[in-house]
Amino acid sequence: MAAKKELTNWGNFPSIEGVSMSFRSNDDLRYLINKNTNAIVRGLGRCYGDSSLAATVFSSAGFNKILDFDAAGATILCQSGVSFADLVDFLVPRGFFLPVTPGTKYITVGGAVASDVHGKNHHVDGSFCNHVSEMSLMLDSGQIVICSRVQNSDLFQATCGGMGLTGVIMTVRFGLKRIASDHIEQVSLKAQNLDEVLQLFEQYRRATYSVAWIDCLQKGKTLGRSILMVGEHASTPPPTTNRTQKLSIPFFLPGWVLNKWSVKIFNFLYFHKQIRKKAKSKVRLDAFFYPLDSILHWNRMYGKKGFVQYQFVLPIGAGKEGLREVLTAIADSGRGSFLAVLKVFGKQDTGIISFPMEGYTLALDFPIQSGLFEFLDQLDLLVKKHGGRLYLTKDSRMSASFFESTYETMGEFKTVLRRWAPLGYWQSHQSNRLAMTKP
Ligand SMILES: Cc1cc2nc3c(=O)[nH]c(=O)nc-3n(C[C@H](O)[C@H](O)[C@H](O)COP(=O)(O)OP(=O)(O)OC[C@H]3O[C@@H](n4cnc5c(N)ncnc54)[C@H](O)[C@@H]3O)c2cc1C
Repeated sequence: MAAKKELTNWGNFPSIEGVSMSFRSNDDLRYLINKNTNAIVRGLGRCYGDSSLAATVFSSAGFNKILDFDAAGATILCQSGVSFADLVDFLVPRGFFLPVTPGTKYITVGGAVASDVHGKNHHVDGSFCNHVSEMSLMLDSGQIVICSRVQNSDLFQATCGGMGLTGVIMTVRFGLKRIASDHIEQVSLKAQNLDEVLQLFEQYRRATYSVAWIDCLQKGKTLGRSILMVGEHASTPPPTTNRTQKLSIPFFLPGWVLNKWSVKIFNFLYFHKQIRKKAKSKVRLDAFFYPLDSILHWNRMYGKKGFVQYQFVLPIGAGKEGLREVLTAIADSGRGSFLAVLKVFGKQDTGIISFPMEGYTLALDFPIQSGLFEFLDQLDLLVKKHGGRLYLTKDSRMSASFFESTYETMGEFKTVLRRWAPLGYWQSHQSNRLAMTKP
């Protein structure tokens, strides 16, 4: 029997005392299911909050084989514990890339499906599950079921973005992107305020990748001052390429290191680093997609109490006004977010409770300090007023009533759970907090 230990995910909040048990085969997992009364599966713990925390977690990290690679058909079949980092290493030298990738490659394929992750290309390519053709799942009975858009489609749609509550994703087949080099042609554009950056997003809506960094301490005429980065896969690499060294934050920094003034200085330097309004460069895939991965353990920067990533989406119509209100509330509060990232979502047609909807999504990091949760409750009201919702995989604190009122399809999701997971075996700290598996 494994010993209990403190389990946390990327935000280091909350911290749960639990037991983590690994599986490497179907039989291992069946055995674990039989021996325990309930559990949740955990990938690499890169969700920020409590989606993959529970008193008992089954770790998929050792269930990590690539099972089939079809270069002609541009598809791959792998076990759910394979990481995106391993896939990038395998695929890029063969001329392929992930169809959709989040801002870190240290996640598993199972985690990508369960959160139905999005990248900088949602407006063009949709979310990760858009590219999944078929998967297999182990139910709480130990039975393995295949699902796809045509076979057991209710289970498929509930599992995409279903936060591990339908069963354990075992294998996934998904489509790949062909690439000609391991570089991205990047264009960076400075925007003086929110109106300008939204106009730029519109102007570059055909760009495959787009993302904006926002200085969320600006007010008035410069509210929403940002840098928009757009990118396309390069057809040829530049003549010489330098690999960048990884830095690491060796221990938790004291909580006071990140405050309004340090964030202000960082934002000033970051915005003014680029002198021209528009700058072009050719950057490595890693630098474009995973800039934060170059600083190992960067989450320690927020101190031992941890931090919350607050990511919401607002529908396209209400987006501009809603973003203005949220950014004003943040600037007025003086709670600068070190990281503030704005993306555009296109239409979303996969997943019953997948997070994306056509509109704008903003992700902000806040260190846990006194008054933070009351402040985020205020932001929740703005998000709800404008018809938006929060991303489950980043959440660690929203209330069950707020969740239920913003995820209108929860009734449909629960109907599928009654069919495929009637015993309520799969439970996380988050699903209990949000009453997600309650009939
Ligand atoms: C620096 C950083 C940047 C990020 N950027 C983005 C981004 O741009 N876009 C985005 O969408 N997300 C982003 N994320 C969030 C991350 O992509 C998701 O939280 C992802 O689900 C983490 O995968 P994981 O393997 O670590 O899973 P975990 O964090 O361990 O678990 C996440 C959820 O997946 C479930 N799960 C995991 N494996 C399985 C399985 N085999 N079967 C069933 N359920 C399973 C868990 O139960 C849990 O509900 C980012 C995270 C970090 C740390």
